[in-house]
Amino acid sequence: MQKRYPSYLNLTLDELSQKVQKAFDMMTACSLCPRHCGVDRTKGQRGYCNTGILPFVSSWGPHYGEEKPLVGMYGSGTIFFGNCNLGCIFCQNYTISHLGEGTEMSYQELADIMLGIEARGCHNINLVTPTHQMPMILKSLQIAINKGIHTPIVYNCGGYESLEAIRLLDGIVDIYMPDIKFADPSVSKRLADAEDYFERCKEAVKEMHRQVGDLEIVGGVARRGLLIRHLVLPNGLSGTKAVMEFIAKDISSNTFVNVMDQYYPCYKAREDELLNRRITMQEYKSALKITKEAGIRRDESQIHWGY
Ligand code: SF4
Repeated sequence: MQKRYPSYLNLTLDELSQKVQKAFDMMTACSLCPRHCGVDRTKGQRGYCNTGILPFVSSWGPHYGEEKPLVGMYGSGTIFFGNCNLGCIFCQNYTISHLGEGTEMSYQELADIMLGIEARGCHNINLVTPTHQMPMILKSLQIAINKGIHTPIVYNCGGYESLEAIRLLDGIVDIYMPDIKFADPSVSKRLADAEDYFERCKEAVKEMHRQVGDLEIVGGVARRGLLIRHLVLPNGLSGTKAVMEFIAKDISSNTFVNVMDQYYPCYKAREDELLNRRITMQEYKSALKITKEAGIRRDESQIHWGY
């Protein structure tokens, strides 16, 4: 039988309900992300991400600054979720991720936002920083599916994901867009409070690729697959060589990779002696060279600063 698109339309009502239930169960001793805080969020406890069980959303709407295959003609329908499971001291959205900017809303309201994005003609529903709110997103998506939504999901995450959570998304997400931020554990500990970042990220990205494969683009618009973002940090902190070698060898040399040049110091990075400047032209060119030498054939970097 021909498969329907987006993938979530192939799930039976029972299968979808089971996924929603399993996702909520994961919050009773929270293991939604590798921090495994163990708090019971369904009873009002909060862990590292300081998030409850209702959707907590900062903003939403068509976005034209994302990767070209996500934006197409009509924009990527971003929904920015508040709070975060990572503690990046250089976060460029720190008012949303660390300072609590956002509004708690009902599942129905989040479903209405998804349906509103579809009504505006966006090519996808782009969930930005969804990890710590995945169950709420599934519950809202379930409501939206019952109302006929049929726009693909982009899972736009920081890369610090639990394997169990990503497995649950099999059959729901068509496009995964994780960051791979760092390789060195001492760097990820200091900059994001996550010593095991690269290990967990590698497991999760392998599972994402197993589910959706390399990025497929039809008529200039992403249909299904994996995109990886890698932000170049000053002073080699992003571990580009190890990251690109992992992608080329363990994922696919045909992975859509965006090596990003737009780092600027904000939040606590302004006071950090290794992070308190933009990257140089030389640092960015070196990152692109490393990407090529690692064997990545699909470097889709969108250059902002005219290197
Ligand atoms: S999602 Fe939040 S509460 Fe759950 S394990 Fe991660 S940081 Fe802790």
